[in-house]
Amino acid sequence: MIKVILKKKISNRVVNGHPWIFNNEINIVEGEPEGGEIVEVQTHDKKFLGKGYINPKSQIVVRLLTRDRNEAIDDSFFYNRLLAAWNYRKQIGYSDNCRLIFGEADNMPQLVIDKFNDYFVIQTLALGMDKWKPAIVGAIEKIFQPKGIYERNDVPVRELEGMQQQKGFLSAGFDTKIRITENGLKFNVDIENGQKTGYFLDQQDNRRAIQHIVKGADVLGAFTYTGTFEIHAAHYGAKSVLGLDISENAVKQANENSALNGYSDICRFEAVNAFDVLKQWGKDGRKYDVVMLDPPSFTKTRENIQKAIAGYKEINLRGMKLIRPGGFLVTSSCTNLIEPSLFLDIIQDAARDARRKLRQVCFQAQSADHPIIREWENTQYLKFLITQVQ
Ligand code: SAH
Repeated sequence: MIKVILKKKISNRVVNGHPWIFNNEINIVEGEPEGGEIVEVQTHDKKFLGKGYINPKSQIVVRLLTRDRNEAIDDSFFYNRLLAAWNYRKQIGYSDNCRLIFGEADNMPQLVIDKFNDYFVIQTLALGMDKWKPAIVGAIEKIFQPKGIYERNDVPVRELEGMQQQKGFLSAGFDTKIRITENGLKFNVDIENGQKTGYFLDQQDNRRAIQHIVKGADVLGAFTYTGTFEIHAAHYGAKSVLGLDISENAVKQANENSALNGYSDICRFEAVNAFDVLKQWGKDGRKYDVVMLDPPSFTKTRENIQKAIAGYKEINLRGMKLIRPGGFLVTSSCTNLIEPSLFLDIIQDAARDARRKLRQVCFQAQSADHPIIREWENTQYLKFLITQVQ
């Protein structure tokens, strides 16, 4: 096996168990590895550190799969990891739908698997993981006897690894418009053409968190996508619900989902730019009891962080202005680079400008099937806040 020997000074990240080894942490690579090959990583004084896959073309040259010298990387390795991940999800209360593998946090760098009942959507975002796709598919088949497996590798980050974007069946073909049940509600999920893997499982715990505050309320939800939060609001007793999304297609799906659950009389959806209409409605003096915001990520790079901060402040400020005194703001941020404390500061800053006082109800992260490892960057990304706006 090819050996990668690290420099004496390596980052704490590696010491803390994080699987990434960067280019500038490597002293020598003994031999000429193929992209994606399994290599052994050693410390500067040649002590075994771990085994992982290498991609000399990537900035992150090695991603470790194991720190156990005796663990072989073969088909049964993938089977064992998937089974362990599934047992963990069951242990913490997930059954039908869950993120089965959340990459690094499941010691499966750059692998994502979402389970939607009997259907599985996978993403292999690094070359070394992509090579094991047959083993991963085999493990899913063995553990779950699924009705279908689909690959959503239409993700630009694959190009940094020298791979193409692609999507398609990894099992026999099937109807990719499927239906799931979440918190007793039905949702159609388009796993072929929906955003990301088709559905945002990362908010599934948070959708339940709005249960009490929406009772009898007039609710406005912006960035609704397929209407999940809004339909939950109707289910939990909202008087009226208006959901906004810039995409006509999202609004169409939100309407279908609302009809599917019998809430067409309570929920309405409009295809508009939320930034524009929230500003206008503030001027018009429109008021709601609850405003929910779940925008897409505002930046993936540090260079744009100030812009992202300004974006969050702006949209939350506009949202707050629409809330009746004593109402609630339900606000999320999935931008990885905005840390939880910074997000709270931004919301506070917006409240100051809006001359409103906040009283925090809850502050959560992504749902628990996306585990967080405290010292590892990139594992906590979602912030979810409910706050009263006085
Ligand atoms: N709340 C959803 C996920 C939202 S994803 C859920 O839980 O499933 C973010 C959504 O914001 C996308 O559907 C995208 O189409 C929409 N969006 C992006 N920019 C927008 C804008 N300026 N105004 C309204 N919607 C926008």
